[in-house]
Amino acid sequence: MTQEPAPCDLLVGADLILTLDAKGTILHDGAIAVRDRAIVDLGPATEIAQRWRAAESLPGKGRIAMAGLVNVHNHTPLMITRGMIEDIGFAPMYTPGIPQGHWLTEEDAYALSRLGMYELLRAGCTTVVDFYRYPSALARAAAELGLRAVIAGRVHDAEPGALATGKHTYSRSIGEASLRENAELIARWNGHDEGRIRCDWAPHAPDTCSDDLLREVKKLADAHGGNIHTHLSQLPAEITAVKERTGLTPPQLMDKLGLLNDRLIAAHCIHMDRADIELCGKSRMTVAHAPIGNAKGGRIAPIMELKEAGARIALCTDTFSGDMIEAMRWAISMQRINRQGNVLDARTVLDWGTREGAEAIGLGDKVGSLEVGKRADIVLLDSRSPTLAPMVDGYGVLVHSASGRDVDTVIVDGRVVLADGRLTLADGDAIVAEAQSRANALWQRAGRQPIA
Ligand SMILES: [Zn+2]
Repeated sequence: MTQEPAPCDLLVGADLILTLDAKGTILHDGAIAVRDRAIVDLGPATEIAQRWRAAESLPGKGRIAMAGLVNVHNHTPLMITRGMIEDIGFAPMYTPGIPQGHWLTEEDAYALSRLGMYELLRAGCTTVVDFYRYPSALARAAAELGLRAVIAGRVHDAEPGALATGKHTYSRSIGEASLRENAELIARWNGHDEGRIRCDWAPHAPDTCSDDLLREVKKLADAHGGNIHTHLSQLPAEITAVKERTGLTPPQLMDKLGLLNDRLIAAHCIHMDRADIELCGKSRMTVAHAPIGNAKGGRIAPIMELKEAGARIALCTDTFSGDMIEAMRWAISMQRINRQGNVLDARTVLDWGTREGAEAIGLGDKVGSLEVGKRADIVLLDSRSPTLAPMVDGYGVLVHSASGRDVDTVIVDGRVVLADGRLTLADGDAIVAEAQSRANALWQRAGRQPIA
């Protein structure tokens, strides 16, 4: 007697499924069954169809399915500087002549965050770590668009106006306000929508936070759990300021204050000597590698050395492109230039951008690969795209040739949030128009007249 098929919410078919699990399982003509937001079965399409009766089905013809991409460091409101900062400076907070973060209203942050999150989804990113001022606006945008997100505030007590002119002036009231904002975020949003939105603490950088503020953040983050997100050894100005203030390098200071450990996700890690690299490696911290931003600033982070010393590497776009596949390609090229050899391959960077990134931010049991029991965060690519042929091992062509533009459909928590490249839960055209209009006003204030 044959068993009656069991009910499920969604069946996702694909000519090819790249599960990106640790064994590198690939399925031909496969299907994924989703119930209560999770993957309950995956295998050959004919077998899945016998076992499951779905409320909704996505046909697999012309589709490649893969695990959603995990971007471990980003600041969506900084979309305001995208397309301009790249030719003007490096890190926006330290750059004059552009719209400053402290000019943004909460509604500006929300509008720009929606733009950034739309772009991320469109390029196949299903999980992002996003932190900035007005973090509740970022959480609101992620909640609305359907993206999985770890949100944090931007804790600092360095005065931003002074920082843009190269000075480090610390203000207790600025520090307290940014702590309050991060605490309010956690109280309001942590665990929202069955954990789709999680909140953490994020001290901006060792030079923009005084020792007292870093100690305070550590205390609060220890009580809260989760990760601590920051920038580390990003700029020569940061190294100089920290040395002048404390006599230590940024990693030494973080270590002294108890922040350098396996809970720390630190972006950049560029300007490090051998001792810094050893210290970071020993701590088992995660480097949020931002190759595109680093290269545009003329810099290469020593990530292979950090990895060899014991650090975990994960990938991020750090705002200025939402395309994680592009970031993977840049990571490979930059390390090959840096080490004058074939030191990094497609499979490794794809793992950094999926499973390893998920593990680094404490979501390894939920996302990062397509496996039974994990949340259904699935990206569907158009297998008829000329950039995805010829498909040989499945990884090479994806990383070295494809781009976020090949993404067709995105599913987060078992819900289709992008179909045919369009958002399903919000009006993408209105998001772009609103962001342009707010950018116009902010750039005018910075002395530029946008042409749009
Ligand atoms: Zn950053």
